[in-house]
Parts: sequence; C-alpha cells; structure tokens
Amino acid sequence: MGRPGGGCGADLWYGRRVPAPATSACSTCGRRAPRADLFGVEPDLLCEPCARAVRERMFVRYRPLVRTHGQTGTLTLLAIVLPLFVATHLARHGALGDGAWLRALEPWFPIWEGEVWRHVTSLFVHVGVLHVVFNAMALWTLGRAVEYAFGPVAMGLVFLATGVVGSIAQWAMVTAPGVGMSGAIFGLGGFLIPLRTSHPVAAAVMDRRMINMLLTWLVLCVVLTEVGTLRIANWAHGGGLLWGLVLGAAVAHRRRRGLVPLAGLLTAGLLAASPWIALGEQQAVRTWHLWYRERVEPLLARDAALVERARALEARHGDDAGQAREDPEYARVRAEIDRVRAEIEALERTGPPLPPPLRRIQGPP
Ligand SMILES: [Zn+2]
Repeated sequence: MGRPGGGCGADLWYGRRVPAPATSACSTCGRRAPRADLFGVEPDLLCEPCARAVRERMFVRYRPLVRTHGQTGTLTLLAIVLPLFVATHLARHGALGDGAWLRALEPWFPIWEGEVWRHVTSLFVHVGVLHVVFNAMALWTLGRAVEYAFGPVAMGLVFLATGVVGSIAQWAMVTAPGVGMSGAIFGLGGFLIPLRTSHPVAAAVMDRRMINMLLTWLVLCVVLTEVGTLRIANWAHGGGLLWGLVLGAAVAHRRRRGLVPLAGLLTAGLLAASPWIALGEQQAVRTWHLWYRERVEPLLARDAALVERARALEARHGDDAGQAREDPEYARVRAEIDRVRAEIEALERTGPPLPPPLRRIQGPP
C-alpha cells in the first residue's frame, strides 16, 4: 500500500479497512487538499490559488500563449474562423471566384429544401471586422474556460449544439441569414452559469462581472437592432444562451448527467426538423417560397430555354428580321414564350402574395 494518492480502501496484509484518502492533488502545483475544496473535474483538479490564476489568465487578453493545454479546441475553432473571414472578405470584393462557395455556407432558402447543414457551416462565417474580432475575443475567454474545465471535445460539442440551436431560432423567426458564432459564444457563457455552484473554475470565470457583461451585450444588441444601427442576430443570441443554460444545468449535477445525451438528441432532432420550423413572418415567407419553387420556377426555366431557342433561330437568319418572322419554327417558339409568360403572370396574380419581408429585401442574393 502507501501509494501516494491511491484510493484503495482495504489493507491487504492485515485485512482491515483503512479510511480511503479523502484528498486529491492539484494537477498544476501538486498540493493536496480535500476533494471538495478542489476546483474542476478529474484529471484537471485545481487548488484554489491555481483556479484563481486560471481566472486571472482568462481575463488577460493578448497574452502570449504560455501553454497549449486547455486551449487546443479553442485554437482549432479560431483556426477555422479567422482564415475563413479573410476568404469571405476577399470573396465579397470579387476575389476568389463569384462567391458561390460562400453562399453555399450561409443559411438561406435551401434550408427549406433540406440543406440543414447550413445551420452548422454558417457558424464559421463572419461579416465585418468588428463582428469577427468581438466573437474571437469572446471565444478566447469562454471557449478556453469551458475547455479548461471539461476538455476540448465537450467544449466543441457545447459550441456546436448551442450555435446550431441559436441559428435555428434566428432562421425560424427572421428572414435574414444569421451568420457567425455569437449564438455559440452565448451558449458557452450560458453553459458556465449553472456550473458556478458545482464547478469552481466556472465560478472563477463566470463571476458577477462576466455575467453582467454577457447580459449587457445581449440587451445592447437588441437595442442597436431595434433602432436600426446594426442588424444583429438577436434570436441566435437568445437561443444559444438558453440552450447553453439547459446543457450547463444538465451537467452541473451528477444525477442529471443522463439528460446530456437527451439534450444532444434534442439538438439533432431540432436540426433535422429545421426545414419545417418557421414562426412569425418567416411562416409566410416559407409558404411563398415553396409555392414559387414548385409552380413558378419550372415555368421560368422553360421561358429561359425558349428564349435561347429563339435567339438561336434569329442568329441563323442573320440580320434579316423579316425572314426570321416568316420561319414557322420561330413563330411557334415566340407563341410558346407568350403563353408561358402569360401563365407566370396569372400564377403570380392568383398565388400567395409576396410576403412583406421579401418585398423589403428583394429575394435571395
Ligand atoms: Zn495548485
């Protein structure tokens, strides 16, 4: 026996029970303390001074990296987000092709046709320097805090789950592509809030000051959007925060841990169901879009094909417009174009009216 830190409860030589050691070692400085006084989860238990040091380090921005333990996941996320922002910036200014690859990442009408993965890819797309800088700074603090306590995989899962739920909330309510990871940032923050009582690293990072900062930011974004200064995905903030609180509450108490896989299933279910989720003004847009897609778009494609056919016939007759008009094939094509266009006009008169949000933004890019 006598193994330092060994948790055996029986003495094999004498056959009598000896009290199991109630202390554990701090993973940073090695100091032993009662398990209840240590911060964090195994194997990253911390004594109080070390946990305080973690907290202080979290608040120091721009500090050079001193160790990679506890920040691999956060660095990985930043290594996706930051280069993608540069590529996005170039694409919006005409470099890097026509930007079709970028539109394929963003949430837009194709979600209603089943492209649910856009809720995931859009988390990594950012517009504007402030957008990406604020989010990266917040991720650096909150992502590392969650990662330090629960590891990079758990941090990544909380990031994805809360980001996706935030994106779905935004998409379900508002006809504007909500891009960026701010929903996931609020999710990571929300995740730490219920953990403050059971997890001292969370308590150290998510103190009153941090919670106030998070809530002030939430409210400020709503105000800035309402007065029209900025267009911010507030539903994504709210949805991410709420889902983070739910996940944190499930993890906070050992007895509720069984709820964690359930929360994961619910997230996946929401993602799968997202093509059918449309609330508020988005409901009218969805109805209109699906009708347009099914009824009008085939006619538009037919019209485009006929126009091309007419052009080809005109080109065959050269400059002689009179000769083209006498061609029976050409006359048939022109008549067909007129018929298709009349049909489109009739459909648009009798179909569902263009919803107000689409009248404002003039359809998808
Ligand atoms: Zn220590």
